[in-house]
Amino acid sequence: MYDVDKQQAGWWFIFCNDRLLSPGESPQWVEAHWHDLPFLHDYEDQVVRVGEHQSKPCYAVDVGAQAPEGLDWTANSLRSMILGHLGEDSLNLIARAWQLTVFLRTHRWCGQCGSQMHRVQWEIATHCHRCQHRCYPRVSPCIIVAIRKDNRILLAQGPSQRERKMWSTLAGFVESGESLEQAVHREVLEEVGVNIRNVRYYGSQPWPFPHNLMVGFLADYDSGEIRVDGEEILVADWFDINDLPFVPPPVSIAGQLIEATKGLVNNNT
Ligand SMILES: [Zn+2]
Repeated sequence: MYDVDKQQAGWWFIFCNDRLLSPGESPQWVEAHWHDLPFLHDYEDQVVRVGEHQSKPCYAVDVGAQAPEGLDWTANSLRSMILGHLGEDSLNLIARAWQLTVFLRTHRWCGQCGSQMHRVQWEIATHCHRCQHRCYPRVSPCIIVAIRKDNRILLAQGPSQRERKMWSTLAGFVESGESLEQAVHREVLEEVGVNIRNVRYYGSQPWPFPHNLMVGFLADYDSGEIRVDGEEILVADWFDINDLPFVPPPVSIAGQLIEATKGLVNNNT
């Protein structure tokens, strides 16, 4: 029933706790044959096939809370890997690998009757044989929006951005029963007290902390003065698009929305 193709080399994401195990100093996925990774053989039932890269299968393996004994690999945070030098294809794969790992970790027991859950063989799901409850990996939609006012953009800092001295676009979870567009208007009003108009879809990006789907929008300022809630958002301001503070890199959708706004301003559109 296991996912490993033992005939050919694959790419391996090996997770320990919330970190990625890598043979060198810097975080990386590992290209190897199954027989070259003997320390994984006890975890064969934990292997999940997550996709393909350069015509080779990609796998995620969860070794749990402790690295296999005697293995002197380094444990790196996913965030450092993602904010390093990843392209979008690899970003999507690592997002999927991590999200499936979290899914299997957190769905060992049935949420309905408390029995043990079992992995379904033909799809990524867990199933309870007692009450037939079935679970699929969770995806949590979040909106993220770049707001333009003439040649300026609204950027904000929450507690985590403040720690990294970074300014970013506004983002927030979509609530139950809400459309994406409603979520954009509500989040902006709640977080910074302004109204926006001309909301346009930009694009989306899976973001594995832990299972978000970031849905990006561009918007124009309409009315209101900036007023932050002091909790989710500590400070927000308008910045000249050609004189920006430290912002997220273009690998993230926040960075791409900022670049797109810069393009709009500089093309006078
Ligand atoms: Zn059950």
